[in-house]
Amino acid sequence: MFHGSLRWRVAFSYVSLVVLAMVGLNVFLSWYVRETFLSNLRTHLLVETRIVASEAERLWQASSTVLPWGDLANRYAALLNTRVTMILPDGVVVGESSQPADLLESHLGRPEVDHALKGEENIQMRFSTTLGQEMLYSAVPIGYDTQIIGVARLAISLADINNTVNTISSTILVATLLSILVTIILAILLTHYTTRPLRELTQRVVQLSGIPAITTVERNTHDEVAQLENAFDQLANQLHIQIEEFSAERGKLEAVLSSMADGVIIVDPRGNIQLINRAATVIFNLDDPRAAIGLTLIEVVRHHQLVELWLKTQKSNLQQVATLETSPDRLFIQCIASPLGQALPGSILIIFQDLTRMRRLEMVRRDFVSNVSHELRTPLASLKALTETLQEGALEDPPAARRFLLRMDNEIDNLTQMVQELLELSRIESGKVPLKRISIEPRELVSLAVERMLVQAERAAVQLKLDCPPDLPNVSADPTRMEQVIVNLIHNAIKFTLPGGEIAISAVLNQKMVVFTVHDTGVGIAPELLPRIFERFYKVDRSRSGGGTGLGLSIARHMVEAHGGRIWADSEIGHGSTFYFSLPLA
Ligand code: ADP
Repeated sequence: MFHGSLRWRVAFSYVSLVVLAMVGLNVFLSWYVRETFLSNLRTHLLVETRIVASEAERLWQASSTVLPWGDLANRYAALLNTRVTMILPDGVVVGESSQPADLLESHLGRPEVDHALKGEENIQMRFSTTLGQEMLYSAVPIGYDTQIIGVARLAISLADINNTVNTISSTILVATLLSILVTIILAILLTHYTTRPLRELTQRVVQLSGIPAITTVERNTHDEVAQLENAFDQLANQLHIQIEEFSAERGKLEAVLSSMADGVIIVDPRGNIQLINRAATVIFNLDDPRAAIGLTLIEVVRHHQLVELWLKTQKSNLQQVATLETSPDRLFIQCIASPLGQALPGSILIIFQDLTRMRRLEMVRRDFVSNVSHELRTPLASLKALTETLQEGALEDPPAARRFLLRMDNEIDNLTQMVQELLELSRIESGKVPLKRISIEPRELVSLAVERMLVQAERAAVQLKLDCPPDLPNVSADPTRMEQVIVNLIHNAIKFTLPGGEIAISAVLNQKMVVFTVHDTGVGIAPELLPRIFERFYKVDRSRSGGGTGLGLSIARHMVEAHGGRIWADSEIGHGSTFYFSLPLA
């Protein structure tokens, strides 16, 4: 029961306390009743003894003769319902109510008698050898003119008192037992009601925890506190499982967020950053994403358009889109702000998509279309003008007509070349040009192109020199395509070199590549324009480019890159240009 229900433990403690108190009270009451009785009895017995003594004294004074001790003793014994003994100063018993006086021994030496003979009233409680039971004795001297003529002694058996006291004690005991019984019932009821909230709480915690616990110490299930502890264990387990699940989910979310290419920011209703992923920190040039948490949106992104977007989304509670350009990276970012609704009331999710590449591609496409149309317009316009001139009468002038037709033929050639080059470029770009690569000597590759260009160089009064060591290792190349590239470079060099100039073609080994060089002593290109000359349709000086389409170097770059090489240029205005391209070894 001690390890059982709290109800029983509390009840037992109550009952024990009450039983202890009751037993104590019982013992005290029994003692107190007996003491009170004895005290009363003493008083009464002494008073009665005095009466007997004073009656004996009165008779003595009246008769001055021998007193009828025996009668006196018997009469008062009958009247007072006690034992009466009359004793002379020498101890001789002269009157005795309980038996003949002459059978009795001298009463000298009995303490109460001795005291009385000294003139003192006395009460004693002791065992009577005469009657064989515990008695209360009261002795009073019978005196006359200070002369003691005897002692009156009254005695009463204590058996009656003991009986009375016992009766009272047993009544108290019964009352005590009844009280204990009532206490037990009350204690059980009271503890039942007082521990009820505890049991109900336990029940609620058990319901709250739901799933059974996994690592609980099995405790006594009758004890409410143990039940509560069990329930708490279960609850703790549940919480533990849930926390683990939450952190797993959080881990997944973090992994997704950090590996996302798009930037993500969540802004709380007050405009503070709640969450920011790695991509967003890269876009906005932040060092530590954690440092951004709690800061305001404007502190972190420093773009007023974004704050306006956030405000607009908050106001309308609808998804809003905006674009912005960052500095100094000049990234073109699309921002989509969506209210998070019930999931995070008042918070707004902003996604940042880097559209820089797409925008560049879009710009290239637009430029391409406008360039193509522009390039087509010039020859078409001159063709139109020439045909109109012919129609308006030039036909009548055969030499002029022939001149015009020659110019028309030129324009058509230009158009055809451009269309062919465009087709070529688009085929190369879409990877539709299969390379027939073979292992070929660099010298052989270059010689073919140089030979083809000799006549053209001679006509332009430019000297063409080839400097290619014969011991260079073979390269892997499609000879036809690479010849086109070299011809193109030499063609440009001739075009932009004044008569009397020089063009040198060479090749050297550089690590695992052979680097080919076409150097001229021509007009040169401004250094800041060098990166652009490989773009489609780019011409440095349109008036000088002499019918070029601006596609030649673009095609050359694509071709070299398709071979796994690289093309680049060096130049100084007025001092000529050098074009380099590399090809991998066979
Ligand atoms: P095009 O067909 O007009 O020559 P390219 O793509 O071959 O087009 O060249 C682009 C531009 O680069 C030319 O218009 C010219 O301005 C410049 N360029 C190319 N090669 C040279 C060179 N060797 N010297 C000076 N400028 C050159």
